[in-house]
Amino acid sequence: MENLSSKEYRHWRQEKELIPDMIRMYCHGHHNTGGKAVCSACEELTEYAVFRLEKCPFKKNKQFCSFCSVHCYKPDRREQIKAVMRYAGPRMLLSHPVFAMSHVAAMLKYKRQQRKSGSAQERAQESAKERAQERAQERTQDRAKEKAQGKEDKGIPS
Ligand SMILES: [Zn+2]
Repeated sequence: MENLSSKEYRHWRQEKELIPDMIRMYCHGHHNTGGKAVCSACEELTEYAVFRLEKCPFKKNKQFCSFCSVHCYKPDRREQIKAVMRYAGPRMLLSHPVFAMSHVAAMLKYKRQQRKSGSAQERAQESAKERAQERAQERTQDRAKEKAQGKEDKGIPS
């Protein structure tokens, strides 16, 4: 049995706690609600998000959902939650600075890793492009030289 109150599930518990807050923030900003209230659409989204977290196979030492390889959200729900995160994310810096900063740090680390794995391929592609450009340049230079020589040849009286 997983002991969900242990330290390894700290991030998971934190997300489960904060996702309803973030959706409420978004709802207040977009759907004219206030206080503890959310509209029915956001209520549904909250239920969905909490349900997905309950079902999450990576509760232990959980990473943030946005870096997860599984993407367990349905496409339309995913778009909804992305809009919520875009809106509530920057506001979290004020209300939950520690949580927000840990997310930013995780994002930077994740992007660095992405760049590292993608860069070898990119470098190969770039150097191939450079070589092609160099060859093209050489050819035009050669042609220009030939033309110039041609003119010189004609210019020289025999
Ligand atoms: Zn709403």
